[in-house]
Amino acid sequence: MAIKRDYYEILGVKKDAGSEDIKKAFRKMAFQCHPDHNHDDGAEDRFKEVNEAYEVLSNAEKRSAYDRFGHAGIDGFSGQDFEGFGFGGVGSIFEDFYEFFSGATSSTRRSPKRGSDIHSQVTITLEEATFGCQKDIDISRIENCTTCHGTRAKPGSQPTRCPDCNGNGRVQRVQQSLFGRFANIVTCPRCEGEGKTITELCPRCRGTGKEKHKRSISIEIPAGVNDGNEMRLSGQGNVGEKGGPAGNIFITITVLPHQLFKRDGANILYELPVNFAQAALGADLTVPTLHGEVKLKVPAGSQTGQVFQFKGKGIPYLNRNRHGDQLVRLLVVTPERLSKQQRQLFQELADSLSKDDKKGK
Ligand code: ZN
Repeated sequence: MAIKRDYYEILGVKKDAGSEDIKKAFRKMAFQCHPDHNHDDGAEDRFKEVNEAYEVLSNAEKRSAYDRFGHAGIDGFSGQDFEGFGFGGVGSIFEDFYEFFSGATSSTRRSPKRGSDIHSQVTITLEEATFGCQKDIDISRIENCTTCHGTRAKPGSQPTRCPDCNGNGRVQRVQQSLFGRFANIVTCPRCEGEGKTITELCPRCRGTGKEKHKRSISIEIPAGVNDGNEMRLSGQGNVGEKGGPAGNIFITITVLPHQLFKRDGANILYELPVNFAQAALGADLTVPTLHGEVKLKVPAGSQTGQVFQFKGKGIPYLNRNRHGDQLVRLLVVTPERLSKQQRQLFQELADSLSKDDKKGK
């Protein structure tokens, strides 16, 4: 670790310099090595160094500790407000820097926050999943108040200077430390750095700036969605804080099971019952699909488990111009009850088949 330079040396001021001289010296040095103007190697490190020196020398308590104990005296303050000088704290240093020069208070300090997400769900049929559909979903959403448009103030009223920070947006907080009391500058908790407070609250939202609305949102569900898929409606969720973007709406899709069809990804499985005679002799049958009926020629001598494929009669692949297939599986059904005549015919068939078997041997 490099040896730390003397703070007075960094700012180029004498040991007995007054606070105005220190401030002037800091402005000059900080301007010279600010990374926005100065792209030399090490400018950013120097900028941090200058800030650190100013942080200590502009504070009477810290300066006194530094005068007596050197850098070791300041280490006693670490963890209080020196975290900002780490690499990750550069942003906050720049922010302070800009405020310092521009005199800007307020709005920049109030960080915008994204609104929260809304979760909802919708149930559709397999047909709707196949062809896509439009659905209306009811949600409850936090929006800006319609009267004050999120400003929280009664329309026509004027905000007044915050009495706690006197309009600065920052207040001194006195803290105890190893070296006695010292003051810290923090964002005013009352006005959150705005420097202004609202004296007359909006009567509609009672000063929250927000209100809850029941909304019906129309959504376009694309063809090919599957059970459990989630749709996102970007920026349609709850309103953000302090000008931040709105959250999202997430909709989970439930696809109901179908009476006839089983889904396997983009394919449809369908079981077609046929009787003994149809399987043995062959038959011309009609098969239901999601796209209407199709003709199936069952060949003579078909068996249970035989599968027929109907290309493109399944469900579309999501966002692709291609459909899955319908797979038709034959199920040869053994009759459970026979009429007298049928029993006789089966008997004759049985005799005939057993003769065939004997011949075959
Ligand atoms: Zn309001």
